[in-house]
Amino acid sequence: MAYRAMYIWIDGTEPTALLRSKTKVLADGEEPGIWGFDGSSTNQAPGHASDVVLRPVKTVPDPIRGGNDILVLCECLTDDMEPHYTNTRAACVAAEEKYADFEPWFGLEQEYTFIQMEDQTAYQSGGLPPGFPSNGYPAPQGPYYCGVGANRVFGRAVVDAHSQACIDAGLWIEGTNAEVLVGQWEYQIGPLPPVEMSDQLIIARWLLERIGEDYGLEVSLHPKPVLGDWNGAGCHTNFSTRQMREGYDAVIAACEALAANADEHIANYGADIEMRLTGAHETQRYDQFSYDVSDRGASVRIPWQVEKAQKGYIEDRRPNSNCDPYTVTRLMVETICGAASS
Ligand code: ADP
Ligand code: MN
Ligand code: MN
Ligand code: MN
Repeated sequence: MAYRAMYIWIDGTEPTALLRSKTKVLADGEEPGIWGFDGSSTNQAPGHASDVVLRPVKTVPDPIRGGNDILVLCECLTDDMEPHYTNTRAACVAAEEKYADFEPWFGLEQEYTFIQMEDQTAYQSGGLPPGFPSNGYPAPQGPYYCGVGANRVFGRAVVDAHSQACIDAGLWIEGTNAEVLVGQWEYQIGPLPPVEMSDQLIIARWLLERIGEDYGLEVSLHPKPVLGDWNGAGCHTNFSTRQMREGYDAVIAACEALAANADEHIANYGADIEMRLTGAHETQRYDQFSYDVSDRGASVRIPWQVEKAQKGYIEDRRPNSNCDPYTVTRLMVETICGAASS
């Protein structure tokens, strides 16, 4: 029997790329191979030279369609089979190979916000989360984080369908929780090496948007989806090397390496990061750097258990919900392992 492969890739939309996907029907026994698409329709190529090549990098069972159907994550290549300029994965692969001795692991906490789709109309993002009345505001934030109850929690059916889909696809999802803003949620994936971590996060993001279709809910990765006294959405990036998992000196050295490269990291941690890293709402300001034990107002938090055990991992709290995981994990490996190598 023929079966369906959903090819998934990252486009060239600025300032934040979108996910794109299309279906290829494969004959029984046929493996998913090289394919391509019209880059002039995805902000990835001019019309007169529009072909962009898709190369499969990771295949998982398709938990939505079921049966023998699969999801095929792809990287984008030019027609001479070099990494396309929108392909940030290639540099992440190179960094992972260069610093393989450090055995870097990542665990990412992906926050996101549901936005209500009025009348199923296609529109530019900017609507309000479910739970927000069309006129005025809901009760101030406080009871929503890890909440339960119809007046506090919105979108749980999607969240539960998504975590099951991630499990069925074989992703290393670790948990989910309702977040501080109404209609905002988080899932965690990891710990995994940089490229596998990023590949799994992209597939998980695709699954969430796909399931949201069935419920009329947009999934926004905007870092500050509601202005005012409401939390933004981040992608806390937990990181360790073998050396950090063995001793505390390497944990502190990692924080110091991040301190010395703070500006470059902020510039690559997602669009509109200054809207979110204001110094309020459990963030440090985007133009200041600090690290501390247990401090959710620091740029980088050392979990208290890590100080106690004198080994473990650090949490970089700065990356935005809309960050590119290949770029974030590559930069952290280059900065922290690079400093430890010199
Ligand atoms: P919190 O909400 O308190 O910041 P979470 O429980 O949401 O924490 O996330 C903790 C994250 O830390 C998980 O993604 C997990 O994979 C990650 N993590 C745990 N141990 C390590 C480690 N040694 N190296 C890297 N990441 C780790
Ligand atoms: Mn968390
Ligand atoms: Mn969170
Ligand atoms: Mn966190």
